[in-house]
Amino acid sequence: MKAFIDYFRSLFLLELFRGLGVTGRYLFGKKFTLEYPEERAPQSPRFRGLHAQRRYDNGEERCIACKLCEAVCPAQAITIEAEPRADGSRRTTRYDIDLFKCIFCGYCQESCPVDAIVETRIYEYCFLEKGQNVITKDKLLEIGDKHEPQIAADIAAQAKYR
Ligand code: SF4
Ligand code: SF4
Repeated sequence: MKAFIDYFRSLFLLELFRGLGVTGRYLFGKKFTLEYPEERAPQSPRFRGLHAQRRYDNGEERCIACKLCEAVCPAQAITIEAEPRADGSRRTTRYDIDLFKCIFCGYCQESCPVDAIVETRIYEYCFLEKGQNVITKDKLLEIGDKHEPQIAADIAAQAKYR
């Protein structure tokens, strides 16, 4: 009897039409894919993308070279060197993040007492030359300056979860 049913199924291509039925259902049903890059998936304010360093409104960099982020980083991706400035304040002379080592855990941001180092929503970047994986203080500040309104809004939104 089973052999007869199998023969009947293959003769009338029942399995094929069943498969096409599934295809048709998804063809006209709700779409789960996005037409990237024209369409983007929504992002959480806690999204952990490319890093940035922030400044105060008067233009002074926030980072006070306490090195907490360097100490907490589980991937040892952060390298900091610091010196006192002429006015006695302590600032970094070098602040590098090796993005090949970084695992985007967000601990650096969590540990920073002055909200200086943050992770932005930026996820579209690439490295074309050797060494570009190490993102320097100047570059971090440049990213921070460019995206400060979004960063500030995201930090305010994140405060709700704390
Ligand atoms: S996100 Fe995590 S791994 Fe990356 S630099 Fe910060 S602490 Fe280190
Ligand atoms: S970024 Fe924040 S945690 Fe890291 S050294 Fe600067 S002030 Fe300290």
